[in-house]
Amino acid sequence: MIAYIERFVHDNDVDSMPEPETAEEQGDLSPLFNGVDLQGTVEFAGCGSDSGRDFGGVQLSKPLALIRPANSDDAKVVRLASRSPHLTVAARGNGHSVNGQAMAHRGLVLDMKTIEPKIIVDPATAQADVSGGALWEDVLKRCVLGYGLAPRSWTDYLGLTVGGTLSNAGVSGQTFIYGPQTENVTELEVVTGNGDVFVCSKNENPELFFSVLGGLGQFGIITRARVLLQPAPDMVRWIRVVYSEFSEFARDAELLVTRAEGDSFDYLEGFVFVNSDDPVNGWASVPLDSDQFFDPSCIPRAAGPVLYCLEVALHYKNEDPPSAVDMRLERLMGGLRFVEGLRFWVDVGYMEFLLRVKRAEEEAKANGIWDAPHPWLNLFVSKTDIADFDRVVFKNILKHGVGGPILVYPLLSSSMWDSRKSVVLPEGEMFYLVALLRFCFPYPKGLSAEEMIVQNQEIVQSCIQNGFDFKLYLPHHTSREGWKRHFGNQWTRFQERKARFDPMAILAPGQKIFPRNWQPS
Ligand code: FAD
Repeated sequence: MIAYIERFVHDNDVDSMPEPETAEEQGDLSPLFNGVDLQGTVEFAGCGSDSGRDFGGVQLSKPLALIRPANSDDAKVVRLASRSPHLTVAARGNGHSVNGQAMAHRGLVLDMKTIEPKIIVDPATAQADVSGGALWEDVLKRCVLGYGLAPRSWTDYLGLTVGGTLSNAGVSGQTFIYGPQTENVTELEVVTGNGDVFVCSKNENPELFFSVLGGLGQFGIITRARVLLQPAPDMVRWIRVVYSEFSEFARDAELLVTRAEGDSFDYLEGFVFVNSDDPVNGWASVPLDSDQFFDPSCIPRAAGPVLYCLEVALHYKNEDPPSAVDMRLERLMGGLRFVEGLRFWVDVGYMEFLLRVKRAEEEAKANGIWDAPHPWLNLFVSKTDIADFDRVVFKNILKHGVGGPILVYPLLSSSMWDSRKSVVLPEGEMFYLVALLRFCFPYPKGLSAEEMIVQNQEIVQSCIQNGFDFKLYLPHHTSREGWKRHFGNQWTRFQERKARFDPMAILAPGQKIFPRNWQPS
């Protein structure tokens, strides 16, 4: 454990890294930019922006330059980096990674968000062409307000860029129906590590298309994505029900995600909370409205230290008769085994529902905890091991909570995640997303950021020791061995793709997978 903390402190001590040797490493990059037709602006060393930080707040870096591209053509600046033996380029979406993934220490950071977002909707084909640096929140507003259409698959929080989530997967409560966001794009425009621009899809340059989706930014910079749309509903009935037993929670959640499309909810997630009056981690985290009351006397006496909440939502149109919505709902809820008396619901507008985390963001900003560190841990855990994971991790290591949501809900793998894409999953038909969305609260006093990191490590070690089949989502590994284990039998393919699309390992150095001038192993 101590060795881990030492490594953590050392890795983040940017001033302890070897002194730069060449002029460009010292920050004199200006000659490199001579004669380059860049429409945007370049801010050299010391770039006093956020480019050396991210949402996680535990990694720091010192980029040599921050490039604010004016248009997607400026992404070809990666060609510049290839003229030097050292330079790397990180496309930065909204910097909402938690382990420095969008950073480029002594490299170039390309701020994708400064390109004015283009969101061009084609109602005839129900698709939108969207720039890679556009925020999903802006995509939502443009599609719904302008056309009554909406993307099918979302993330919980929409202050993330299209290129940033497509580089990972993009999962939320719609994933069980439509797959992750990476399954809901039909075409990309990509600038590869050689600075070449390609349009790619399942039929045109398919290898690049499959590589880039879930590719952790390793194979190209996404400058445009074509996103599938569907008619947007007007309203959402948003429901939470509570379980005292994990087995019953899992049984109901799995039942609902395996029902045929159109015969289930439009959204399904779940979370674990502490069985106590803890204001952050406990009962109070369940009600959906301030006038709703969580009655602890409903909880069975035999309940353990944590409880489970299934969260579902049903879409409807303004013209749907209320009785029809009620009937659909009762049919879907029939047979579920949640605790009597612990059912909460509200009706909200569709956009309000999708922007629900923005309200939490505003509150967290007001409390000062949004800008504090977030040592988050995200895992995909096989269905086969999730009951043991509950016993070892939720009921034991995390029985006091994490200072924020602990998400846990099932996702279908086989039909919903195309294995030609770069994301890696546990084996089997179904796995669970587990997300520890930690916040550092000064009051009530929780763990410090360092203690949270140690606890994350303990959880990962427990998974390994217990032989659980799991993968890190939004992965972070500090060694080549760690990455090899992560990709497993897809490591060779991942390396071959790197050699083909970014042979000098210029792109996304913050992922720490390939150093500049790497050799396949
Ligand atoms: P960044 O952090 O800026 O970049 C992430 C990686 O992608 C970096 O390696 C970067 O170099 C690369 N990259 C960025 N833009 C491009 C591009 N245009 N082309 C190629 N590579 C690029 N994830 C989910 O799946 N579901 C959720 O519900 C969810 N909720 C979240 C809520 C919050 C509050 C936060 C902070 C994160 C959440 N995430 C969620 C995680 C999020 O999807 C990832 O952290 C994502 O990478 C962040 O997007 P970003 O635009 O900030 O990307």
